[in-house]
Amino acid sequence: MTFQHEPTASVPADHGLLDVSGIEVVYGGAILAVADVSLTVGPGEIVALLGANGAGKSTVLKAISGLAAADRATVRRGHVRFGGEDILGTAANHLTKRGIVHVLEGRHVFPHLTVEENLLSGAFLRKPGRRELLRQVDDIYAWFPRLKDKRRTLAGLTSGGEQQMLAIGRALLTQPRLVLLDEPSMGLAPRIVQEIFQIIVRLNRENGVAFLLAEQNAALSLAHADRAYILESGRVALSGDAAAMAARDDLHRIYLGDAL
Ligand code: ATP
Repeated sequence: MTFQHEPTASVPADHGLLDVSGIEVVYGGAILAVADVSLTVGPGEIVALLGANGAGKSTVLKAISGLAAADRATVRRGHVRFGGEDILGTAANHLTKRGIVHVLEGRHVFPHLTVEENLLSGAFLRKPGRRELLRQVDDIYAWFPRLKDKRRTLAGLTSGGEQQMLAIGRALLTQPRLVLLDEPSMGLAPRIVQEIFQIIVRLNRENGVAFLLAEQNAALSLAHADRAYILESGRVALSGDAAAMAARDDLHRIYLGDAL
């Protein structure tokens, strides 16, 4: 299978899928992590959420996916709508059934299960029949051939890149319309990162899966996204077309340290 990255088209923003408006998120009732963030993701868009360490990217994703509560974080203001419906406060497993899945930072896989067992665990919420399940796992192997080669290997013994692919592949088995993907490039070799981003773009173009991608690596994200938001201290400092942002020469100096 060849992975050919097509130049990112400027997709007209149809903001009908995810609509986050004016959220404020506080940890433990005291630490203000997100002060005021509004953003949208249209059906079939790739949207990058950029910003330096601690800017609030992960917290925004957790506020959307319902995982904030698990970290004792509360969304105190604003709303989150998915497909026009208010989803704030909805448990993550219910959101997964409705088409939002969150791939957490740090490649969370079950290390003592094989690659294939990890993938099978991704489908448990929908409980498809065995034949259908195996067909869906084969689809994932078509997207990530490296996972097929390692299907019988314990996930904990695979490389960092393979674990990231596994975390994404398992999330895809929930058949999402929107994937919230936190720092997929973290700690991986550039060649593997390129491979993962090219698969993300193909999943988006060929299957219409939308992505909200939190990344510190701005150059990489802007090269693959349709639009982007830059967070600074829990607020949106800049937003717009990804290609136009990549062309600015002041992003690096102003917001992103050495990431660009
Ligand atoms: P990184 O790339 O380092 O993950 P980020 O942009 O994703 O950064 P967040 O992880 O959302 O940023 O953190 C935003 C702020 O919230 C930071 O000040 C951080 O210290 C704080 N924070 C994050 N998680 C917690 C937590 N579990 N408890 C308390 N404060 C937290």
